[in-house]
Amino acid sequence: MKKAAVAAVAVLAAVLAALLAYDGIINKEATADFFAMNTYASAKITGADSEECAALAEEITQSLDTDILSRTAENSEVFLLNKNGGGALGKKMRGYVSVLLDVCEKSGGAFDFTLGAVSDLWNFGGNPSIPDSAALSDALSHSGYKKLALAENTLTYADKAAVIDFGAAGKGIALDEIREAFAEKSIKEAVVSVGGSVLLMGEKQFTVGIRNPSGNAGSYIAKLHIPAGCVSTSGSYEQQFEENGEKYHHILDPETGCPAKSGLLSVTIISESGIMSDALSTACFVLGHEKGAALAKEYGCTAIFITENNEVFVENGSKDIIEITDGAYTLI
Ligand code: ADP
Ligand code: MG
Repeated sequence: MKKAAVAAVAVLAAVLAALLAYDGIINKEATADFFAMNTYASAKITGADSEECAALAEEITQSLDTDILSRTAENSEVFLLNKNGGGALGKKMRGYVSVLLDVCEKSGGAFDFTLGAVSDLWNFGGNPSIPDSAALSDALSHSGYKKLALAENTLTYADKAAVIDFGAAGKGIALDEIREAFAEKSIKEAVVSVGGSVLLMGEKQFTVGIRNPSGNAGSYIAKLHIPAGCVSTSGSYEQQFEENGEKYHHILDPETGCPAKSGLLSVTIISESGIMSDALSTACFVLGHEKGAALAKEYGCTAIFITENNEVFVENGSKDIIEITDGAYTLI
């Protein structure tokens, strides 16, 4: 071979090696599985910073829980607000509270993040049982978002016994914080799930399963084909217990303080915002199909309702996004 040809081959080989190395970097995958916010969480990330981001997803979720949103971790922001009957809010907390107060109002009180004392009585996170009715009425009398007043950066509880609880929105908030942190990193795709809330980042169409609301934890009844965003599902199957032949679940009707009976098994909300998808899925579950659909529309979110008759409705969005994979369920 002539010298020039040898040189050309060498250059080509070097370019190819560099390309392969580059491909290896941008498609580098990392995963993390962890337990946070009282639920299982996982992250699967592709990109140059994937390892750092997988660790970051866990770190952010854990510290958001223990330092900020937990009702039980002493000295978390929420713990101190509840202890002191309000207080000054940091910029982030002010943002969360104002979004949630808006959902409380627009849902006509079906969503209410002041039910902490009522939730405690049911003890869904621990060893649940039907509360004593006098205790339930008492806890309910100290609940209600109208007892909160947000002025400038200060939250005031009109009733100092009110207990705020981020159980219905914390997982979505975690997704928003994770997305914000990832924005400065070099990643191609990310799928992060915290309980029933999932964050999707990247340029492709993603496939997300909708859990079987009356079956095993690991089974799905449909696939959603959707672009980047957040998806949350709230269902009566989470944290259920049975007493005297009746089933009780953890999504409460703020009017009664008892598990909401709205004819639904689950609601899935698709939104750009994690806090919105999480809070709205709970709100729509309490409201039921018709009123829930109106609320989702007001916020510009697509909602998927699964009724107790195993009927599946897509509201404020195209049915093309859903593919039912379980013959027991019917897309209407
Ligand atoms: P999951 O925690 O299974 O993701 P949700 O997002 O629907 O489910 O939140 C349920 C949690 O929210 C309950 O465990 C409780 O702490 C709280 N909660 C229950 N009922 C309501 C309600 N009507 N509005 C706001 N929060 C609620
Ligand atoms: Mg929720």
